[in-house]
Amino acid sequence: MLRHIYRSSSFSSSSHRKPKPKPKPLPMGCVQAKPEMNGSTRPVGLERLKLDNGYVGNAQRRPPPSVDDGSGNGTGGEDHSEVAERDNNNNNNKHPPSSRRISAADDDELVDGWPKWLTDNISKDVLAGLVPKSADSYDKLDKVGEGTYSNVYKARDRDTGKIVALKKVRFDTSEPESVKFMAREIMVLRKLDHPNVLKLEGLATSRMQYSIYLVFDFMHSDLAKVISKAAGLTEPQVKCYMHQLLSGLQHCHDRGILHRDIKGSNLLMDKNGVLKIGDFGLANYYSPKPKHPLTNRVVTLWYRAPELLLGSTDYGVGIDLWSAGCVMAEMFTGRPLMPGRTEVEQLHRIFKLCGTPSEEYWKKLKLSTTFRPPRSYKPSLQEALKDLPSSSLGLLGTLLALDPAYRGSAALGLKNEVRRK
Ligand code: ADP
Ligand code: MG
Repeated sequence: MLRHIYRSSSFSSSSHRKPKPKPKPLPMGCVQAKPEMNGSTRPVGLERLKLDNGYVGNAQRRPPPSVDDGSGNGTGGEDHSEVAERDNNNNNNKHPPSSRRISAADDDELVDGWPKWLTDNISKDVLAGLVPKSADSYDKLDKVGEGTYSNVYKARDRDTGKIVALKKVRFDTSEPESVKFMAREIMVLRKLDHPNVLKLEGLATSRMQYSIYLVFDFMHSDLAKVISKAAGLTEPQVKCYMHQLLSGLQHCHDRGILHRDIKGSNLLMDKNGVLKIGDFGLANYYSPKPKHPLTNRVVTLWYRAPELLLGSTDYGVGIDLWSAGCVMAEMFTGRPLMPGRTEVEQLHRIFKLCGTPSEEYWKKLKLSTTFRPPRSYKPSLQEALKDLPSSSLGLLGTLLALDPAYRGSAALGLKNEVRRK
């Protein structure tokens, strides 16, 4: 277990897995999106919102690597350390979704133009306003993204000629939990409407194959690619992207949604340099006074907040702000800030950079002190990032505060960021 490993492991401070990129021309200009009012967000009943309850067991979207499996999980490619599982909050779900195993009899049934297997698992409210489309009405041109749980294609809408992105969400039709998992991504996306959040433009299904495609505007790039093409972004670029990221996050948080997987490859960029938060596959609803525990096995390891690593199940917006801080540092340096290979090493890297937590921290967050590091460290953020402009170090220090309460809110981050301009 974590405690055992913490005690016995030799903390490797191995070099970054991503090689430092060679200096290349700076990325495209950064344009700030104009804020829009969220007029189209429909109120959705609380019970409906709680459809996300009970996604447990086999519904894991990204099976968590075990920290003590000795498999070396966490070394290698870009996303290998991704960890996530559904929240174990299946109690008190008064209105569970009417999911069930999909039978052959469902094959050709349609409800309001949608395949019955979809309407059985997603509320009509969520689908309202979306025009049912067939996957056949798109020509796939190219595969632009591939993950464990989705494939993303560049495609052309045969009717309009428009170039779109189709995200084919993998799910197991014989496993209703997995269908509900996919349903949550759609429900969350339907609640969001902001220039810095990737908008769900439509849904396409393939009736006979139980395939579902989320349709988005096609985006030119993502922040991970932008960062890897440059040796580090300039301060005005970082500020501009951070402003957009925090604006988008504020919108999500205002609507009670935690993204839970903020990192460069989930921050899409259009050709004008507008940043849009994408990939809500791990998002969930939260409340300041949570009734149900949330899983802490979320967020890609390098971007995961200390309270998650320490087992918190009543976390809040701070976890997305922490990830935003990690992304901010990465934009400046061109390298991930804390590329840990295991949960234990990740915690150790955090404590080395941010200092070991105070007595109050453990008491206040009600976290088990068994995870205390064997020795104490002083904060070294300033030293580690001494080339960073001092005007940005302040915001970074706030976002990377050990105590989530000090990270404040995205709105506060925005204010700080604007004041320092
Ligand atoms: P996953 O859950 O598999 O990580 P994402 O939604 O993050 O799925 O998409 C995977 C990758 O596909 C992204 O990192 C990005 O490179 C690409 N991608 C996603 N959405 C779009 C889009 N709208 N336009 C262009 N590329 C996209
Ligand atoms: Mg992703």
